[in-house]
Amino acid sequence: MKNYIDCHSHSHNSPDASSSVVAMCEKAMELGLAAYAVTDHCEAHRFFPKEKYDVTGSVSPCDIYDYGKLFENSMAEIAQAKEIYEDRLNLICGIELGQATHDFNAADIVVSDKRLDFVIGSMHQLPNYEDFAFLDYKYYEINILMEKYFQEIYQMCIWGKFDVLGHLTYTLRYMQGEQGYTVDLKPFDDIICEIFKLLSYNGKGIEINTSGLRQKIGATFPDLYYVKMFKDCGGEIISIGSDSHCPDDIGKGIAEGTYIAKQAGFEYLTYFKNRKPEFIKI
Ligand SMILES: [Zn+2]
Ligand SMILES: [Zn+2]
Repeated sequence: MKNYIDCHSHSHNSPDASSSVVAMCEKAMELGLAAYAVTDHCEAHRFFPKEKYDVTGSVSPCDIYDYGKLFENSMAEIAQAKEIYEDRLNLICGIELGQATHDFNAADIVVSDKRLDFVIGSMHQLPNYEDFAFLDYKYYEINILMEKYFQEIYQMCIWGKFDVLGHLTYTLRYMQGEQGYTVDLKPFDDIICEIFKLLSYNGKGIEINTSGLRQKIGATFPDLYYVKMFKDCGGEIISIGSDSHCPDDIGKGIAEGTYIAKQAGFEYLTYFKNRKPEFIKI
């Protein structure tokens, strides 16, 4: 996979993955990727140990993670791997920063870390809601959730201290793919277009997240229609990632995702080193 890049993956420094950075790198090297990023989860609202903020005294099972500590572990392990692989692998030290809008203070600390090459800005949950992965959609008005989702992303883009917006339309993995509710995104095209214009104006990009291709929904996040819309809104920076949580998934869907970028009119994919874009011809 000589001209392919995979800029989204998780090691055991993410609570939902269990492989070491070295195990992930071995696979990336075996595939011959031109660039490979480890982007562990860092959920802004859980960057500081939850107890500091929980005035009610109740801590849900989801709040046991100390993302500040996981972040340190991730940075240290990636730095070590960079030494091990040196010029054998173009390893990118990234982070998937979730919900910057829920704690700007924590988010600012994360993005100002000089060890980072690359920051994905993601939105996994709305304020006062569980992660979209854990909601039972029969209890919710999906259009209202989606409106809030895009508004929250818009606010995150105004803050804008990331490099690419992660997996836009990720909610469909659960709403549509897993729970079978058809979601019409057309009513949100205007706000999505505003998000894209804001990103383009600020020199930011989006990613094509290929995880959906190996899941029930069978589509990238976002799909071709929105990747093309990003281009039409002036977007120039397009990243791509498998969102793999184990070595076996590294590189999966990257060929298909790269083709989507090409169909949308992009001639280059982008990866980041030292928070600066590097372009690779499709
Ligand atoms: Zn994510
Ligand atoms: Zn991810």
